[in-house]
Amino acid sequence: MGKLLRLNMTDRTAVLGDLPDKYKHLGGRGLTSTLVFDEVDPTCHPLGPNNKLVWAPGIVTGTAAPTSARISVGGKSPLTGGIKEANAGSGFAPALANMGVRALVVEGQPEEKDKWWLAHLTWDKDADQLSVEFMAADEYAGRDLYDVFPELFERFGKKVSISGIGVAGEYLYGNSGLVFEDLEGRPSRYAGRGGLGAVMGSKGLKFIVCESKGGPGVEMADKKVFDQGRKALTDALLEHDITKPKGALNTYGTAVLINIMNEAGGLPTRNFSNGRFEGAAKIAGEALFEGNKERLGKELYNHACSPGCIIRCSNTWHKPDGTELVSCQEYESIWSMGANCGIDSLDVTGELIKLCNGYGLDTIEAGATLGVAMEGGLAEFGDAEKAVDLMHEIGKGTPVGRILGAGTATTARVLGVKRAPVVKGQSMPAYEPRAVKGIGIIYATSTMGADHTSGYTIAPEILGVSGKVDQFDRDKADLARGFLEATAFIDSTGHCLFIAFAILDIASGFEGVVEECNGVLGTNWTMDDVGRIGKEILAKEVAFNRAAGISKAADRMPEFMKLEKLPPHDVMWDVPDETLDAVFP
Ligand code: SF4
Repeated sequence: MGKLLRLNMTDRTAVLGDLPDKYKHLGGRGLTSTLVFDEVDPTCHPLGPNNKLVWAPGIVTGTAAPTSARISVGGKSPLTGGIKEANAGSGFAPALANMGVRALVVEGQPEEKDKWWLAHLTWDKDADQLSVEFMAADEYAGRDLYDVFPELFERFGKKVSISGIGVAGEYLYGNSGLVFEDLEGRPSRYAGRGGLGAVMGSKGLKFIVCESKGGPGVEMADKKVFDQGRKALTDALLEHDITKPKGALNTYGTAVLINIMNEAGGLPTRNFSNGRFEGAAKIAGEALFEGNKERLGKELYNHACSPGCIIRCSNTWHKPDGTELVSCQEYESIWSMGANCGIDSLDVTGELIKLCNGYGLDTIEAGATLGVAMEGGLAEFGDAEKAVDLMHEIGKGTPVGRILGAGTATTARVLGVKRAPVVKGQSMPAYEPRAVKGIGIIYATSTMGADHTSGYTIAPEILGVSGKVDQFDRDKADLARGFLEATAFIDSTGHCLFIAFAILDIASGFEGVVEECNGVLGTNWTMDDVGRIGKEILAKEVAFNRAAGISKAADRMPEFMKLEKLPPHDVMWDVPDETLDAVFP
């Protein structure tokens, strides 16, 4: 059945109860969005006492299912004003699952300000149940997470997992993520989008430290069925060119997309004013691989960000002397700090990414904000030194930093920049919607604001995964809906979305995911249930957003994309509104 753990920050009490029967087949995003839909007043202030923050491991998280250590975090977003689910890969997810916790809800709000708390979760061997202790955490506030994380591991032991916030969450920024440790203990894995760090900060909660040793593990209804599914998925991941060992992701990381998107004319450059960046090759995955080789004197393949990942796409970038600069430089982060700011150096993008990790920021929102700030006159495009300075302003909470920390939309408003690449207040990721129409439909209609992980249509539109689709074709409401639904399902299983490259091409792999879920839950789902489950999750998210005041009129692209032609293809946003409205009829 599993447990539902509630931490009330008003009086710092913890209540552990059985997960209600109605939630028994839910996990990950399905569970966070359902709990938020059921328990959070859509009209509440995101930083007030009535918002809640929900952590939920996926359905198969904590088992031997490959690449399944994802933790979903949900709540009402301070950035979009709507429902939010953001997820990350980290040992925190299997740690909760191993203690039988299917969902952790943080609610209430302390009266005292500027007081920080830490919740320490352990397995009490004598009582044979989870135990929670609240501790003062003021000593960790206002500091770089790269300094704080080693202290937490020193104090609580090397085996603990951590979820928490940096100074961005303390300042209640619209751009503030939730940090988790990677396998080396770095504060580098983020449920970054939507400002959920500020929700945690508004509750005075700085960290949750979790040690699951002794926990009962994940209950399994039918191990044989689970193992069958696990094997089918594992085989697919090991076979597909994108996900196999020494394949595209393991060799070049997600940054393999820089050259590909640049070639397609869809790499947003200098605040979405061009689809091609002349310096793309210098910040591409290939440059990353070759640069590391030169600096280390040997080839370096990527590593897993979280337990049990067999795709292993997470990279480490090294300084000229061979010591580590940062892990990890993702495609999205390199793009946002690089091409989008006119910067063509992996050393600079690495430094900026490290600052985001240390301060607790979402790299996509931060880079998009810098792009707008450059257009608004706070720096020249390509000025790396000034970009670093602006990032420090955010981290120090100066007046300018607070504006930038509020996110791209606020920064554009303050600086009078019309070219604001946002939907529902959230900045666009690294794919130009004018040049790739399907992902634009996803940005416009996603319940999360502009978000590529809501439905990665780039797979067919650019990569030819599951068949090639013309990137400029506008008639993609059905394609978008299918991706939105399938993604809501995958986000509920606990698998990393990157399994999609393999399972969209290899049907037995997708069937394997469904079998894994059946093995854990005792259900009899078939492939037909994938769309149904995804649809049910989306219906709750849409309903929450409507009740929060976000109407269909918000399912639109920013006007500048209908007025400005995007080089090199000279394309505009020309998908009819009727197509957008047909996604959620
Ligand atoms: S595929 Fe990459 S992002 Fe996904 S879990 Fe594995 S290492 Fe992490």
